[in-house]
Amino acid sequence: MRVNKILSIIVIISFLTLCTLFYFNYGQSSIRVKQIKDDEVEVFTKYNDNGIDVCYGNNFRCEKIKYKTQGMVNTKRLGTYTLTYRINHDGKEKVVHKKVRVVDKTAPKLEITGVHENVCPNGKTTGVSYLATDNYDGDITDKIKYKIEDDKIIYRVKDSSGNETKKEFDVKINDVEKPSIVLNDETVIYLGMGSRYEEPGYVAIDNCDGDITSKVKVSGTVDTDKEGEYTINYTVSDLYGNKTSVSRIVKVFKKNNYDPQQVSNKTIYLTFDDGPGPYTARLLDILNKYNVKATFFVTGYDNRYNDLITREHNEGHTVGLHSYSHNYASIYTSIDAYMQDLFMIQDKVSNLTGGYKSTIIRFPGGSSNTISRRYRVGIMSELTKKVEEIGFRYFDWTIASGDAGNTKDTNKIVQNVTTSLKENRNNVVLMHDIKGYSVDAVERIIQYGLANGYTFAPLTMESPVVHQHVNN
Ligand SMILES: [Zn+2]
Repeated sequence: MRVNKILSIIVIISFLTLCTLFYFNYGQSSIRVKQIKDDEVEVFTKYNDNGIDVCYGNNFRCEKIKYKTQGMVNTKRLGTYTLTYRINHDGKEKVVHKKVRVVDKTAPKLEITGVHENVCPNGKTTGVSYLATDNYDGDITDKIKYKIEDDKIIYRVKDSSGNETKKEFDVKINDVEKPSIVLNDETVIYLGMGSRYEEPGYVAIDNCDGDITSKVKVSGTVDTDKEGEYTINYTVSDLYGNKTSVSRIVKVFKKNNYDPQQVSNKTIYLTFDDGPGPYTARLLDILNKYNVKATFFVTGYDNRYNDLITREHNEGHTVGLHSYSHNYASIYTSIDAYMQDLFMIQDKVSNLTGGYKSTIIRFPGGSSNTISRRYRVGIMSELTKKVEEIGFRYFDWTIASGDAGNTKDTNKIVQNVTTSLKENRNNVVLMHDIKGYSVDAVERIIQYGLANGYTFAPLTMESPVVHQHVNN
């Protein structure tokens, strides 16, 4: 029985201990907050805080109580925000926090337009346009990456939060466009014999490979000691094997070889009236290039181009006298009026050429003009005799280029002249260096003449006279 007593006491003590422990663990009243989970909200959406779950009491009975929330979440900016909950109840206080992350989980938009028919072997596309926009980063087109795998092209773009959008298309690896070669300078080059040929250069561009100028192969040679036509070939291939060839023609011509002692039976006398003017310098350059000497029948009233009269003389051309004023109504009224004007232009030329007294003249309108009849009947008959008597020589022409009024078309002028040239006669060509479209025709006339065995010569006092029929 003693044993029973002892056992009872142990049981009672144990029970009381358990009750005490139970009370302290589950029965005491306190502020109780359910575990707080961090929250997450998508950027640019509205954040609704669910608050916290809080009560006051013990495990058996716990009543909901109020709390205050502090802090805010800016859903327009990515980041982690903290909300603070403050609970005061029954003289007790508790403060807890919740973390709210504003996140971007929206993938960017990727728009790709165009066809992927022909993608270059190096991955370059043509005719395809890209646009990538992200809800948070804005335009991220520059972040688009693409690569080619087998027969697909895969575009990817990632926003700053790591969201990725991917698009893929079937592609055909193909380069259907040939490269292009653009030659510097003309495709037909005229070169005087004995001068040096220098490659004027070229540029080669390919739609896929870009600038491939360095890959151009140039073949062909030019022998500038030998008259003839030479072809220079330019060839280039792109990485896909498309080949382009272009060529340039170099025409090596005999420079004009004028010998005053030996007049050829195929001679052309180019004559230019009414200048100098704005195109005369260009004309002189062209004549120089071919070593062609010509004749300028100059006027005197415009002093702006005086230095060109000097240049004409210095470069071996004949400076002839046309008229100082070129005014029919004044020069064709009397012999004296004409002579006064003639001596004025003679003096002017003399002053500009260091004393060259030109005695080679061309009447305004030519010796056959009939306009002069308006001012004085018979004046041309008198003048043509008079000038010869006092030591002048006047020259008309045998070939009218047409630039005196019939045409302004350079091609027509070239044609008028080249079709009129004849062997065994004095081909005196009338042109005007105050007309740009006429000066433009000169180079082709020279090329035609040289290629056909003509020699270009200036008119001199020894040249055979070319006179038209005097009509007044
Ligand atoms: Zn004239």
